[in-house]
Amino acid sequence: EHLLARIERHDGELNSFITVTAEQALEAADQADAARAQGEAGPLTGLPLALKDIFCTRGVKTSAGSRMLDNFVSPYDATVVEKLAAAGTVSLGKTNMDEFAMGSSNENSFYGPVKNPWDLAAVPGGSSGGSAAAVAAGLVPAAMGTDTGGSIRQPSAFCGLTGLKPTYGRVSRYGMIAYASSLDQAGPMARSAADCALLLGAIAGHDLRDSTSVARGVPDYTEELDAPLSGLKIGLPREYFGDGLSPEVEGAVREAIGVFETLGATVREVSLPHTPYAIPAYYVIAPAEASSNLSRFDGVRFGYRCEAPADLIDLYKRSRAEGFGEEVKRRILIGTHTLSEGFFDAYYKKAQQVRRLIRQDFLDAFDEVDVLMGPASPTPAFDLGANKDPVSMYLQDIYTIAVNLAGIPGISVPAGFTGGRSTGGRPTGGRPIGLQILGTHFA
Ligand code: GLN
Repeated sequence: EHLLARIERHDGELNSFITVTAEQALEAADQADAARAQGEAGPLTGLPLALKDIFCTRGVKTSAGSRMLDNFVSPYDATVVEKLAAAGTVSLGKTNMDEFAMGSSNENSFYGPVKNPWDLAAVPGGSSGGSAAAVAAGLVPAAMGTDTGGSIRQPSAFCGLTGLKPTYGRVSRYGMIAYASSLDQAGPMARSAADCALLLGAIAGHDLRDSTSVARGVPDYTEELDAPLSGLKIGLPREYFGDGLSPEVEGAVREAIGVFETLGATVREVSLPHTPYAIPAYYVIAPAEASSNLSRFDGVRFGYRCEAPADLIDLYKRSRAEGFGEEVKRRILIGTHTLSEGFFDAYYKKAQQVRRLIRQDFLDAFDEVDVLMGPASPTPAFDLGANKDPVSMYLQDIYTIAVNLAGIPGISVPAGFTGGRSTGGRPTGGRPIGLQILGTHFA
């Protein structure tokens, strides 16, 4: 009730929620109380949280941030939603996002942009911008996001949160509205690694309904939280500290890495030589998969349908023209082009070959070091409306995208603020900065 009141009070300004499910939340909270009374409470029983509006939720609107699905009420729950409910968590609602998870600022939402609670002039990042803003503003202690090329880590960095993209296949994609199926992965956004560990334990695991989910036991991720850091080998990818990195971000990230050194870790430089090809490869593969995944939105089977279609072709054309936003159309066109006969080998196949090299770069690096560290994003959160050019927006994802192409896990953790900070770690104003930590598959 406290958090629902906070949402009521603050979300008019932030716009982090698309749908608040107060009634269902109060019911779920009563069930959590009952479980507690019977001594059946687990660590997450009664935990309030929010779900990115890309997770299908039974009986609740699931829009993916699109006009296309503005009237779509899901008839079933995504596996992530089912598992979180089974763990006793209480969802307060569905959070705002870039349309179909395409974007890095949350400005591509049909429901309008989201504001960054640290500085209302700034974007919260994207595409899981609503989830990030809701946690940062204390509207919920944790939220679920999805990450296809950075959409958990970058908004977590921009909003001062800990956000984890698990290994591809660790969490079931069943019921998560598909953007790029070979890259999409769900994960938690919260205030600490400990919170992320608990939540990942609840959502991970094999699922017969997602053939790419991996049949592998789920460890207790909280067990190693306090493991000593002495002897940990940290690699700093040379390519992640080059041109385009803001000095303020670099300074904060290097200072954070210095803390690991004082705790006994060793640091050395490594190279990921194919890094410059990650964005071009991603922007062939992701739109190709998106153009295929989004072909189901045809005005007949789901969601938006245009008024008074003249015939079937007019129905398809106008429903898609009116239902999709500009960025989504851009990507459908790119993807359709690269998958066309005569272009497939030059674009899609070539991009998949590059993807293999990028993955190999990481595996080679993890032969030498335990983890890689660097910035999550080249800049702190930028101003709303400041980044109008699609290509410069795509460049935002320079440090996050290769991770999805390789399928490895990545986390962004808070590493200070622009403008420095006061004693006690409290911000003195300024915008948050994220340190990204990468591990090998399932690490
Ligand atoms: N910003 C990237 C894109 O627009 C990544 C988004 C995501 O991870 N869903 O595709």
